[in-house]
Amino acid sequence: MTKVSHNSSPWPAYEWPAGKQSAALLSVDVDAHSPFLWSLRDEVPDRLAGIEIRRFGPRTGLYRLLDLFERYDFKASFYVPGFVAETNPEILPAIVERGHEVGLHGYFHEIVADVSDKEFTGALEASHELFVKQTGAAPVGFRSPAWEMTPHMLREVKRLGLAYDSSLSGFDHPYDVDGVLEIPVQWAVDDAVFFKFEGGGRDKWPLQSGRAVLEDWTSEWRMLHRFGGLFTLTVHDWISGRAQRIALLEELFDKIKAESSVWVATAAEIAKHHASSANSGRFAVAGAIPAAIGPRRFGRADD
Ligand SMILES: [Zn+2]
Repeated sequence: MTKVSHNSSPWPAYEWPAGKQSAALLSVDVDAHSPFLWSLRDEVPDRLAGIEIRRFGPRTGLYRLLDLFERYDFKASFYVPGFVAETNPEILPAIVERGHEVGLHGYFHEIVADVSDKEFTGALEASHELFVKQTGAAPVGFRSPAWEMTPHMLREVKRLGLAYDSSLSGFDHPYDVDGVLEIPVQWAVDDAVFFKFEGGGRDKWPLQSGRAVLEDWTSEWRMLHRFGGLFTLTVHDWISGRAQRIALLEELFDKIKAESSVWVATAAEIAKHHASSANSGRFAVAGAIPAAIGPRRFGRADD
């Protein structure tokens, strides 16, 4: 697949390591039942189905994904809430031992809109401390639960000395926002959008067809490869560790593996490349939130 060269955007093309036209980041958000507990944080009902479907992740799904990556010799980035690591202390060492990256993902998978700046900082510091304790090394990256960020969170990521955040989608290659390196994500290539189904009347839409999703993901990857971008796939332990989804990922990985000019790398490796390459500082933007439109609105009812 040749690179599309007619780039009329005012931004220069992103530069990947020599011989590579694009990059693929395979990421796993090891949420297990932490979002379930966060959503019910004041009172958990005396029922098992919703929690068991998610416990499948740390019991089986995570290991199916680890074995899958090993079959392709792909290294991935795993984002683990502190609570999941605390209650399953074997998880972080198992991931690190197999050569993958582990990154921060909140403590209780706190949803940004639900917490104060102070609460966010407390969760970030507590999860950082736990990661150091369990792995013997400081994590280098953060990914926000449900991919929301605030200017305060960006400042805290920087203050803690983390190399990057991976929660926003302002470019489809790495960029700098408020001085923090952003390794972008994309909802269209997140398994939860298509396959998150928990039962118990909590679901907003039905399960999607794996064939249709595979076709869309493959097309997104192919085209991003032509554009020279970063394909960030996000899957979850309890969702994509299921049999049919492993088959789907195998088909996608067969195609990525066959294309030698794709750089399959962890987010930590991509962050390192960004910092030491000509890309550094080239894609710097401000995260400034604009003022409300307020009185400038046209034709308001009260005019
Ligand atoms: Zn998550």
